[in-house]
Amino acid sequence: MNKNFLLSIIVPVYNEEKNIPELLKRLKPILSKYNYELIFVDDGSTDASPQIIKNLAKKDKRIKLISFQRNFGHQMALTCGYKHAKGDCAITLDADLQDPPEVIDKMIKKWQEGYEVVYGQRLDRQTDSFFKKSTAHLFYKLINFLSDVEIPEHVADFRLLDRKAVNFLNSLPEKARFLRGLVAWPGFKSTIVQYKREKRFAGKTHYSLSKMINFALEGIISFSVKPLRLATYLGFIVAFLGFLGIIYAIVGKFLFPEHWVTGWTALFVGIMFLGGVQLITIGIIGEYIGKIYQQVKGRPFYVIKEKVNV
Ligand code: UDP
Ligand code: MG
Repeated sequence: MNKNFLLSIIVPVYNEEKNIPELLKRLKPILSKYNYELIFVDDGSTDASPQIIKNLAKKDKRIKLISFQRNFGHQMALTCGYKHAKGDCAITLDADLQDPPEVIDKMIKKWQEGYEVVYGQRLDRQTDSFFKKSTAHLFYKLINFLSDVEIPEHVADFRLLDRKAVNFLNSLPEKARFLRGLVAWPGFKSTIVQYKREKRFAGKTHYSLSKMINFALEGIISFSVKPLRLATYLGFIVAFLGFLGIIYAIVGKFLFPEHWVTGWTALFVGIMFLGGVQLITIGIIGEYIGKIYQQVKGRPFYVIKEKVNV
């Protein structure tokens, strides 16, 4: 194996003080085989995580820390890691040891075979709840149906990117950073390495149900305009039904005036239905306008508080 390259390992950290020492213990024997840099991106942790990393960085220049001013989210932490990575390839890895570091060797092997993107794919999701499994499945079905890019299923943010792919991500001005989609979009030569996703070593997940729903919406909105089309279709269907209703009302009124009573039900149903469809379509349009708004403001993706060894 050719060992003449620099490997960047990027670890997003949000309140993971109990996991960092263990992560290092597991990473060390694997990384020692390579010429590497280990970049921790502290996403506004409020516990001792940044302090622990700083102490490590003091002893070892290959360990680097970038701290955010506040919590900007997992995807922004990864984005920042890619921006600062100097390696010929970069691997992103969770701090909670759910992504076993031992898989790194396999990823690098694939990369040296010429693959530009190597996805870590979970073999089974036993450690996830039934609810998370089924909603995730539904989400991938939906996003792959709605968008033009094929995002592989059971693939999270544990992946290797060649320098070319890292440069591509870094060149994107896009604020909505749904990295799974952005990595798949350009069509780099990619492959999959399977692994068993482990239980969180310590602490608990930062992805609540509402965060997961937001993440899913973010993915769909930033990779497809088909929901807008859906809004148009809904509009047409409702307009057509409304047209039939109008004919019914006029014909009925003139032909059977004696039977034509107040018609409260028809009115009520019509108003409720129309109101619902209008709100849905306005909501869909609003989602896109929101994205445009965030993009045109042009604020930075994140704000850095301090850097160590970077
Ligand atoms: N994380 C982060 N910012 C956040 C939430 C999470 O940097 O706002 C990090 C977290 O420390 C971990 C990784 O992203 O290293 C994945 O988070 P988590 O384990 O909570 O997600 P799950 O594995 O449950 O999907
Ligand atoms: Mg996790």
